[in-house]
Amino acid sequence: MPSFARVGEPERPGALSRRGALGAALALGLLGGAASAADDPLPVTEIAPGIFVFQGAHEEATAANLGGIANLGFIIGGAAVAVIDTGGSAAEGRRLLAAVRRQTALPVRWAIDTHFHPDHALGNAAFAGPDTTIVGHANLPRGLDARAGTYLDGLNQALGNAAAGTTIVEPMLLVRDRLSLDLGGRALELKAWPPAHTDADLTVLDSATGTFFAGDLVFLQRVPAIDGSLRGWLDAIAGLRREAGIARVVPGHGPPSAPWPGALDDEERYLRLILDETRAALAAGRSLDQAVATVARSERGRWLLFDDYNDRNVATAYTELEWE
Ligand SMILES: [Zn+2]
Repeated sequence: MPSFARVGEPERPGALSRRGALGAALALGLLGGAASAADDPLPVTEIAPGIFVFQGAHEEATAANLGGIANLGFIIGGAAVAVIDTGGSAAEGRRLLAAVRRQTALPVRWAIDTHFHPDHALGNAAFAGPDTTIVGHANLPRGLDARAGTYLDGLNQALGNAAAGTTIVEPMLLVRDRLSLDLGGRALELKAWPPAHTDADLTVLDSATGTFFAGDLVFLQRVPAIDGSLRGWLDAIAGLRREAGIARVVPGHGPPSAPWPGALDDEERYLRLILDETRAALAAGRSLDQAVATVARSERGRWLLFDDYNDRNVATAYTELEWE
């Protein structure tokens, strides 16, 4: 990512037009085929006062969607803005920043990664700068480091020129348990979870409105992907049901605002079925291949992208449950 300190500039009037010129130059210089979409603001919906969400497409990352397959959001307080998940590429991150700038000139003080998956955290480069602190789970740097090469190779393959400028940017502020951030008369409560969807899941609650950003601890419509612990995720779902003060949830994938706690039901049913049927397969002495071919198949019609992820989910579950 070229070192544009983009964040905070618009506090000065006139900065917006300079940003436009900069965006155009960047697009022409670096982004090739994706230039036309480079700095167009992402379309966002205001789901509660001062809370805006972009809904990711139920697709794999492509040059056309710029890796924009996860839900992203931002919350505007009295003095500052927090972005929650930065997107699937630097280009998508810049479009998210443009969406922020359409609503407010306040500085983006925090960019919070709900976990390290590329569709959520590869937009960090668009927010890197002196005015923004990137925030993540204490385990996030390790996970991002371990996968950096794979993620960037995969993105370059999927996006081509549109991946330009995307780099791995680590969070500077790490959360081990809970952390409160003040946006100016608006408190965000962050919570780091034990291994579940990944081993670096972080959630954000806007206390004022009860809006809960669950990251990929909550999937709707798109089939959940297990990259942490199946048993841990089911424990986390039980824990989520006990969390106080939640009125609505922004899932990592799916409708941008969903009723609580009903939004947990489909995912819990799917994960529990994987647990029960994988345990049964193990007890019956079935091989990994046999388990993959049979477990949770009854869920196939209920989820998008089921065929892309179910096999891997069952294999992960099989390995996890094999020695219990
Ligand atoms: Zn994820």
